[in-house]
Amino acid sequence: MTTAFFSHDDCAKHNMGPEHPESPDRLAAIISYLADTELAQTLDWIKPVEITRDQLLSTHPEKYLHQLELMQPTRGRVFTDPDTAMMPDTLRAARLAAGANIEAVDMVLSSQVTNAFICARPPGHHAERSKSMGFCFYNNVALAAMRALNFHRLERVAIVDFDVHQGNGTVDIVGGDERILMCSSFQHPFYPHSHVYQQADNIINTPIEAGASAADYRKKVEGEWLHRLQDFRPQLVLVSAGFDGHRLDPMAGLNLEAEDYRWLTDMLTSVAHDHANDRLVSTLEGGYHLKALAESVSAHLEGLTAIR
Ligand SMILES: [Zn+2]
Repeated sequence: MTTAFFSHDDCAKHNMGPEHPESPDRLAAIISYLADTELAQTLDWIKPVEITRDQLLSTHPEKYLHQLELMQPTRGRVFTDPDTAMMPDTLRAARLAAGANIEAVDMVLSSQVTNAFICARPPGHHAERSKSMGFCFYNNVALAAMRALNFHRLERVAIVDFDVHQGNGTVDIVGGDERILMCSSFQHPFYPHSHVYQQADNIINTPIEAGASAADYRKKVEGEWLHRLQDFRPQLVLVSAGFDGHRLDPMAGLNLEAEDYRWLTDMLTSVAHDHANDRLVSTLEGGYHLKALAESVSAHLEGLTAIR
């Protein structure tokens, strides 16, 4: 049994400009770092296909999908919010990132692979049901959850989001859906300044103060998440894997290192092992210091491939 690694060259065609932190260089840095490791040979490298419109409609309304298509320019760039730009290849890249999430769920649930990592962009967790924001257009992890619940008929799916920014889009979409338990850690107060105090029973928000130590982070996350995840008994674990909580990341103020991402991964694979027959699908969100990102993704993959 193997770990699938999804990537597609066309994800690099979405380019929000030379100064933008969410750049094609992120994927290139991860892939070139992996190429020099033994890990690369153990992964099952897969080129995804685009998500279909029907699959997108499981999560986003027709009106929103149509709006995005109208906004996508045929040349140049248009900004959909102060941080997020579209260009001619943006929706192609977004459909590939989302499509990889669908395919990964299908492969993991049909036991073709043990688990999967989606190394694609644009990311997804800030995209709300009807609103693109924070570099995100389609909510990849929510689409994966809906695929598992509606198409594969699972009854319980966990979503764990350890990006340094809160996954407001995912909370917007899955808040109140009792088939899902979402655990989310994030620097607070911080972008996106919303959905932190939403009182849905299925959302566990774990705010972390800027400057907190890695040891404090681990203690808080383990204390607030582990027993809830074990009690919930997920049949599939989905991960919004953002690595911008790294101490070198230019966008945020937490102090995690690659070894902390390995620790998080081991905690999540142990939950997947206990309840989900090891089934786990992890999708890339943030992470903007290229070397720290590559090292952290590699540590995450070491954890995913360690279960045999
Ligand atoms: Zn982030």
